[in-house]
Amino acid sequence: MKRLLRGIALLTAAVSFMTFAAAEDVELTLDDTGIVLEEVSYNSVAWDFPIDLTEMDPELVRLANKEVLLSKDFIPEPLMTIPKRKTDSEGNNINGGMNKASSSEMQLQEECAAALVALMEAALADGQKLYLKSAYRSYRTQNTMYYNRLEKNNGKDDGWVTKPGASDHQTGLGCDVVPGNWRDRGMNEQMAAEEECQWMAANCQDFGFIIRYPEDKEDITQINYEPWHLRYVGVPVATYIMDNGLCLEEFQEQLQSAISQFLLNGGERSLVEAYILTSAENE
Ligand SMILES: [Zn+2]
Repeated sequence: MKRLLRGIALLTAAVSFMTFAAAEDVELTLDDTGIVLEEVSYNSVAWDFPIDLTEMDPELVRLANKEVLLSKDFIPEPLMTIPKRKTDSEGNNINGGMNKASSSEMQLQEECAAALVALMEAALADGQKLYLKSAYRSYRTQNTMYYNRLEKNNGKDDGWVTKPGASDHQTGLGCDVVPGNWRDRGMNEQMAAEEECQWMAANCQDFGFIIRYPEDKEDITQINYEPWHLRYVGVPVATYIMDNGLCLEEFQEQLQSAISQFLLNGGERSLVEAYILTSAENE
């Protein structure tokens, strides 16, 4: 994370004054084994990163954690209300709803919601019944949850409820998805052994999701392993992250350093500006 912050400082120092319109050039060359290599550049400045800017939506790769806070005014849009599950007399889901009929209303960012419907349908076709347990949480809701937890814990932060502004749930792209038989159980790492969770870990990237808090990245994410917490980032980014065994923080570190390099080489700032990490000051 230190390296990441240094990257941000570098970025702030490098300001590009180029005003001409961006032109994306893709150069194809063959390597000696005959594999096509693609080199992408913008106005002749190389974009040296495995994923092209056109395949990465800055809103979808947004980071929220203890060091990069979301503003208390940040609300993802458009938000979509997830239909509550309606079942017929035989218990079949008849409206495509994803959460329990008795649960309170849930919302997710629209593109993420559509991708989650597709993921759940594919899971069901493979015999895996999944439930949406938690979705978008506003800054205010997170704030209430955090201070309730503190109160119950004699004023001590035990790390189980994330501070307001630092929750992936505020992005509207993070959601907790659990196996059918865990709908009413407290969540813990044991869940990872369930077939449904293994299905999610193996297939989520095809729908644009990643496992946001992997088991081997607790020291980086500073969040315990959560096999249930999916995060939508879009298919190209999800594929890259899952194939390379990264967490979102590591992906962002690579991205921010690619941006620094692009700007140092004279790349146009307006092309990458939306991807540059900034932390909100909520106090
Ligand atoms: Zn979660």
